[in-house]
Amino acid sequence: MTIKFSDLGLSQPVMQALDMQGYDTPTPIQAQAIPAVLEGRDLLGIAQTGTGKTAAFMLPSIDNLRKADNQIPFKSCRMLVLAPTRELAGQIAQSAKDYGALAGLKVHSIVGGTSVNKDRNKLHRGTDILVATPGRLLDLIDQKAFNLSGLEVLVLDEADQMLDLGFIHALRRIRELAPADRQTLFFSATMPKQIKELVSGYCNNPVQVSVTPESTTAERIDQYLFMVQANEKQSLLEMILSGRHPVPGEFERVLIFTRTKHGADRVVKKLGQVGIAANAIHGNKSQPQRQRALDEFKRAKVPVLVATDVAARGIDIPGVSHVINYELPNVPEQYVHRIGRTARAGADGVAIAFCAEDERAYLKDISKQTDAEFDRLPLPENFRAVVEGVGPTKRAHPNQTKMKRVKPKPRGASADMRGGVKSDGPPKKKHPNRKGKPSGTGQGGKPGGRPQGNRGGKPGGRPGGKPGGRPGGGRSFQKRRSGGGGGQRRGGGASRQG
Ligand code: AMP
Repeated sequence: MTIKFSDLGLSQPVMQALDMQGYDTPTPIQAQAIPAVLEGRDLLGIAQTGTGKTAAFMLPSIDNLRKADNQIPFKSCRMLVLAPTRELAGQIAQSAKDYGALAGLKVHSIVGGTSVNKDRNKLHRGTDILVATPGRLLDLIDQKAFNLSGLEVLVLDEADQMLDLGFIHALRRIRELAPADRQTLFFSATMPKQIKELVSGYCNNPVQVSVTPESTTAERIDQYLFMVQANEKQSLLEMILSGRHPVPGEFERVLIFTRTKHGADRVVKKLGQVGIAANAIHGNKSQPQRQRALDEFKRAKVPVLVATDVAARGIDIPGVSHVINYELPNVPEQYVHRIGRTARAGADGVAIAFCAEDERAYLKDISKQTDAEFDRLPLPENFRAVVEGVGPTKRAHPNQTKMKRVKPKPRGASADMRGGVKSDGPPKKKHPNRKGKPSGTGQGGKPGGRPQGNRGGKPGGRPGGKPGGRPGGGRSFQKRRSGGGGGQRRGGGASRQG
């Protein structure tokens, strides 16, 4: 029997807000967590983003706050949500406002990189719900501008990320400052030892809800791999984004990960030089710059975003068709987080890893710890010659011929989501865990478009863009340039003009 929201015991105002959001079925984590949270139990949720966990903790908490009907405490809050990054905090605060639209609760968020004085002023009279990054919260507490005495519910979201970002001491301090009789809702995508210790300090006999096996990469994401030298990655990226070396999947939004801020800036700059508009998002960017980059990405005005791990944590943008790991993360869990930016809200996704010789150990760790299965893709023909600027007609480097051809996906052609061009409009809200094709992307569905991708492993098909064997491949993100990009496909006028 399918569980409905109406089975979970939520109040009328919250149900109405859900209706306004267009949600009709609870996700597995919502179905499991909401009744327990409504009962006042502590919760340990092992879940990645994209599972609907924000609503899982927010909806019942809104109801509990309404029922308790306590006064807003002076310089304090009734519910505190701790999040690792500014972007995630912003999104959670927005969700709290959306879900609590009719509940009359006051919601604020405070994050680093903005004016502390403004935060002090806005929290002077307290708030019902506060979403905060740990550092900024402690700044205000240390200045005696805020305290946790009124706290009824404490949520730790993406706790593993907070640890990775060095917030362990902050989290220990916050635990000491929070009243003992609070309810704690603890979420983490992974469960390393340090997290387990933190859970036992924070939670009291929590109900455990797990929606994905620990560290297992999402099923809906097809993962591909290029073995490519570090100094050739940029050329490969340019060829992929310009459509000169098609990869599986239809481009909608492409999120590219680098390990460093400097690396992200460099990729953006070089893409710009070949007419591919991209933005970077990382810790050295100001908050308005980060926000603008996210907005442009969300609206698909600039559908290529280059990010570092930290900055991308909060990105919940439906319609990320591809995640490209330009550099592999040195922490396997980070890989899970990165590729989780695609396949949001029920869609499928494509993750492509660029692995250089010196990253083989990272790749091994990722495969081992996340059970990721990569399909290896061949480099473009004559790639070395193109990189060296010798011209596309030169023979390829002999090493390239050693590359294995992509093997057929065992899941078969039915897994292919990219038969047509997706619209840029707001995506339909679907059950985030729903499998299957998004609407309007049937096989070969694009009017006048190309045939579907080769993820089904068409015999003889390969993604290298050989004449006669055209794979699914994305649109080009490159501005039209005279004479550029031999074989560049325009996909029925669907090209992005950055
Ligand atoms: P989260 O895991 O909280 O980041 O949520 C992932 C995405 O799923 C967000 O864009 C939510 O708006 C959306 N979402 C959450 N719950 C539901 C639901 N029950 N039905 C449809 N969409 C949902």
